[in-house]
Amino acid sequence: MLATIIHAPRDIRVETVPDPVLSTGDDAIVRVVAACVCGSDLWPYRGITPTREPHRIGHEFVGVVEQVGAKVGRIAVGDFVIAPFYVCDNTCLNCRNGVSTSCLHGGWWGVDDRKGAFADGGQGEKVRVPLADGTLVPVPGGVADAQVPGLLTLSDVMGTGHHAAIAAGVRPGDSVAVVGDGAVGLCAIIAAKRLGATTIIAMSRHPQRQELAREFGATHIVAERGDVGVTAVHELTRGIGADRVLECVGTKQSMDQAIRSTRPGAMVGYVGVPNGGPELPVRPLFDRNVGVNGGVAPVRGYIEELLPDVLSGAIEPGRVFDLELPLRDAADAYAAMDERRAVKVLLRP
Ligand SMILES: [Zn+2]
Repeated sequence: MLATIIHAPRDIRVETVPDPVLSTGDDAIVRVVAACVCGSDLWPYRGITPTREPHRIGHEFVGVVEQVGAKVGRIAVGDFVIAPFYVCDNTCLNCRNGVSTSCLHGGWWGVDDRKGAFADGGQGEKVRVPLADGTLVPVPGGVADAQVPGLLTLSDVMGTGHHAAIAAGVRPGDSVAVVGDGAVGLCAIIAAKRLGATTIIAMSRHPQRQELAREFGATHIVAERGDVGVTAVHELTRGIGADRVLECVGTKQSMDQAIRSTRPGAMVGYVGVPNGGPELPVRPLFDRNVGVNGGVAPVRGYIEELLPDVLSGAIEPGRVFDLELPLRDAADAYAAMDERRAVKVLLRP
């Protein structure tokens, strides 16, 4: 089969690799219907994280189950399934506590699972899925082609935007500022609106993303950053700052922007992967009773909750995909996202 391999920074190749095989009894083989490139895939692409040897890549995919192991009971051949960006059993203590990203038996795509069997990367034609009953979520009924992009966002970005809103405690009537206009930031706007926020401020400098932000529910756009951006948010929130701020970037600047945009007593929900590790200014947080809550999004636990709204069209996170390419053009997909020609690229095997 074909799969995407990163060899070195800016060296993405689609190559022939061995077909996956069942090996642990609790696994499944999924034929990938759609996969995509994540903002975090750009880190090795840009050389920010090292690539010591060529390896498989991609962690967001949906597809159809082709085979299941003898111990699999919840997932059946023929199911259309959503895979979260990690492997989990969905039954251990951490999973039951809502932190399936810390599953005691979990793992990641593109590396060996805990039993030493390979779990393929998501950007390929097929994937061996460990712990299939826990990891995969079947979609009831038939799936129309037009529904595929929306379902694919439940693999990562929509669940991650939702996690930011949950971590920040968004409630009906809240004012919410969203820092970051990538796919996660745009999905965070959807999530804030879905949870009842009435003032939603998108911090974005890009006209096309501003337009999508408005269509997703943003009531205001703030294009400025730094002191001017903070002042603009305060002016839109009765002069005191936003009730909730969703940080969807992960840099020192974005965390600073988020914290300073809050009102006293507010909460920042952060899901931007901390790149270089922004440190929290504890004394200003203390003085203003501002909290910071969040982390790597346990999206597996959100799929069932968000799925009906995606299927009904009540929310349309699939619109974050503004470019679709065949899998063999994965290198072009990375380049398009790296050069910000695309918000998010969908790959079709
Ligand atoms: Zn678990």
